[in-house]
Amino acid sequence: MSIFHSKIRTNMSRLKLASHTVLEEAQQRGRLKCSKCGGSRMFFCYTCCSLVGMSLQDIPSVKLPVKIDIIKHPNETDGKSTAIHAKILAPSDVTIYTYPCIPEYQKDEVVLVFPGPRAVSVQDMMKCFSESGTPDEAQSSVSKVAPLQRVVFIDSTWNQTNKISTDERLQDLLQVELKMRKTCFWRRQKGKPDTYLATIEAIYYFLKDFHEHCLDKGYDGEYDNLLFFYSYLHSVVNKAKTSAGKC
Ligand SMILES: [Zn+2]
Repeated sequence: MSIFHSKIRTNMSRLKLASHTVLEEAQQRGRLKCSKCGGSRMFFCYTCCSLVGMSLQDIPSVKLPVKIDIIKHPNETDGKSTAIHAKILAPSDVTIYTYPCIPEYQKDEVVLVFPGPRAVSVQDMMKCFSESGTPDEAQSSVSKVAPLQRVVFIDSTWNQTNKISTDERLQDLLQVELKMRKTCFWRRQKGKPDTYLATIEAIYYFLKDFHEHCLDKGYDGEYDNLLFFYSYLHSVVNKAKTSAGKC
């Protein structure tokens, strides 16, 4: 367990992140009332999807190379979900839907990130897209990526996720799996494989692979700030554990 945690600290410290000072200050002030719903919140309101006690200028904003849809289970506890991190940090590229209200997807333009026997890697995903185009199109790196318009993630507990992923409206989509990543999630969840990722981590790792394998560019921290809240919360939990003598 201690090896696991120290590994995470190293990984997290390599990220190119905006300063956490604004979050440290907000934490010292404590919870504030959300101006929209009146709920008591820290950093942001997960019900209204807005910042609390800080403005958009105080936090980083991330531009994504593809649109991201997150399908949330209605029973998922909003306060524990990391989907909201993506919406707040990349507001123009991320949309959150609450199941069963989901859009009609075109299978030639959309992939679903979900593990399973028929899932392919991010690298192989582009081959699948290239094969459906003409050989000329497949050779150009621009048109190689062009058909992929949208990437869908499911945000829910493991059992609920299976229900959503078997929805017939998602059946025709190419399934993509993030195979090599071990979770950094501090709340290890019982009965889950350790490759299970928090939604914000899954989005981050997908985009990193997409950048390297599909856009053919060297990764230089372009999407690291998607983990702006996540890495901060992670460091707070780690400090608490260390001071409690559990590490
Ligand atoms: Zn609110």
